[in-house]
Amino acid sequence: MATKRQELGVFGEQRVVSDCACPRCKRQKTLVRLPPNFKCADVICDFCGFLAQVKAASARSLDRLPKSILGAAWGPQRERMESAIYFSLFIVLATTDRSYAIFYLAADLQEPDMFKPRKPLSETARRAGWQGFVYDMNAVMNRAVRLR
Ligand SMILES: [Zn+2]
Repeated sequence: MATKRQELGVFGEQRVVSDCACPRCKRQKTLVRLPPNFKCADVICDFCGFLAQVKAASARSLDRLPKSILGAAWGPQRERMESAIYFSLFIVLATTDRSYAIFYLAADLQEPDMFKPRKPLSETARRAGWQGFVYDMNAVMNRAVRLR
């Protein structure tokens, strides 16, 4: 059984591959989803090899990005930043009735400031000690473009 959050993630990836052209080679219908265990990215262009992450978030309004969006594990993100590695990001906002908007933030417009570590999970949590991060969208609000 997929959780609501996993379902939303799948929805976001499906919307990106069906609606978005590849940001690099500009071809239509070349983005495909990567398997869930593929760590650094969610979609790849099967023509040019472009990689991107997809984040889906529920939202009441589709007009603008939320101030922050839940990210993933902080450890790998921090290590990638230390190596100056960033991945372009599609952000899919979805309302409860599955209306949606897609925003795009290119890798070269990202900076360390937009990745904020969260507190590690408590000792009693299922994944005790695990630490995530949030994307602080305030830092990059004017750099993201709305695709649809
Ligand atoms: Zn491409």
